[in-house]
Amino acid sequence: MPEVYNWHLGRKMTYVFDEAHPKKQFAAVFNINRCIGCQTCTGACKATWTFSKGQEYMWWNNTESKPYGGYPQHWDIKILQQLDDAHAAAGKKAEWDTSQASDTAPYGVYNGMTISEAAGADQQALGYLPEDKEWRAPLFYEDTSTAYKGDRLGISQEGASLPEHQTWFFYLTRICNHCTYPACAAACPRKAIYKRPEDGIVLIDQARCRGYRKCVEQCPYKKSMYRGTTRTSEKCVACYPRVEGTDPLSDGVPMETRCVAVCPGKIRLNGLVDIAADGSWAEAPQHPLYYLIKVEKVALPLYPQFGTEPNIYYIPPRWAPRPYLRQMFGPGVDEAIARYTAPSRQLLAVLQLFRTTQRMLFRFEIEEGPLVLETEVNGEAWKMYDDTVIGFDAKGREAVRLSVVEPLHERPAERMNSI
Ligand code: SF4
Ligand code: SF4
Ligand code: SF4
Repeated sequence: MPEVYNWHLGRKMTYVFDEAHPKKQFAAVFNINRCIGCQTCTGACKATWTFSKGQEYMWWNNTESKPYGGYPQHWDIKILQQLDDAHAAAGKKAEWDTSQASDTAPYGVYNGMTISEAAGADQQALGYLPEDKEWRAPLFYEDTSTAYKGDRLGISQEGASLPEHQTWFFYLTRICNHCTYPACAAACPRKAIYKRPEDGIVLIDQARCRGYRKCVEQCPYKKSMYRGTTRTSEKCVACYPRVEGTDPLSDGVPMETRCVAVCPGKIRLNGLVDIAADGSWAEAPQHPLYYLIKVEKVALPLYPQFGTEPNIYYIPPRWAPRPYLRQMFGPGVDEAIARYTAPSRQLLAVLQLFRTTQRMLFRFEIEEGPLVLETEVNGEAWKMYDDTVIGFDAKGREAVRLSVVEPLHERPAERMNSI
């Protein structure tokens, strides 16, 4: 099998196709700390793409409550268990060597096996086909927290203190990751799944698909779904007319997807990053996504050990137990949370850009403002400035301008009780 470079793993890995990369890659950052579990994203995708017969159970976007929830049920526990079993059978450990971290291996080197490397001779990757009942309820265990250590009356003698809550859950909102090395495409015996060279969006050619469901079986994130009425599989299409700038609203420039654009929690930022011929991200420190993922390393891939190099990145929740988060987002978790909780001057400004315009942002600039707060965070001195961040669209036009301190608008006296 050919070898390809996976920068999430910091090493080469085997993959069914030769290394080839798009010019740009569809990507996003989701800030878990801000998600309120409102499912507006879920409804927006459903109302746009999956409202027809045979698509009733399809939630291309879903928001599940961790640690117990998942759609389909227990999808990640199941694939993690398969990966654990494969390591045990091979006498290997799924460990990261963070001492080897470098520019091309920002999280260090993963010495364990990916789902592709751990697969048997008759499979492209580890996987399983969920039973119908596992798809029946997208919100199983919604808002269900871990057990509480309090007494009979629910009062804990220990109290709760950061950095980790004693009892916790968080919302993990998910779409297809438009992976660099998609397991769904590797698995398809009809070669019906392809990655677009212009933007890296992964699509299923409905004319070629025969509904063998190998993609459903081998996507580790379970984001390919079978439609009984057409006998083909379908998945998130990354709202490609909006990304192409062909949506009537877009004024000819790429727009954020529907699930991103509607988010009231302002947790999402979506864009296109430039990809070099070798698959690395072309250096662009003024690109908001490049800045968050590559410069600040505050946003991390979901289950990087699966080996598909997913392109949706997460700012991890700051209060959940670190071992759980390291399993989910890799070894960069501690650094990411430290940087998020005491953000640099520039990071605090860039974090304001989330969900403020429907136009995709390709560049940001910061105008410095006055010092407004001096305090202590994580035991160290921390300063906050009222800087202004400006975001620019694909044509280089100013799309949004925001200050770190939100402006205060006082209602005129004559409209005090105007409701
Ligand atoms: S998340 Fe799954 S369906 Fe989406 S590109 Fe990756 S492997 Fe394919
Ligand atoms: S990107 Fe578009 S198609 Fe994909 S989950 Fe979001 S709304 Fe649905
Ligand atoms: S719309 Fe935003 S805040 Fe609401 S569930 Fe989706 S990602 Fe979370």
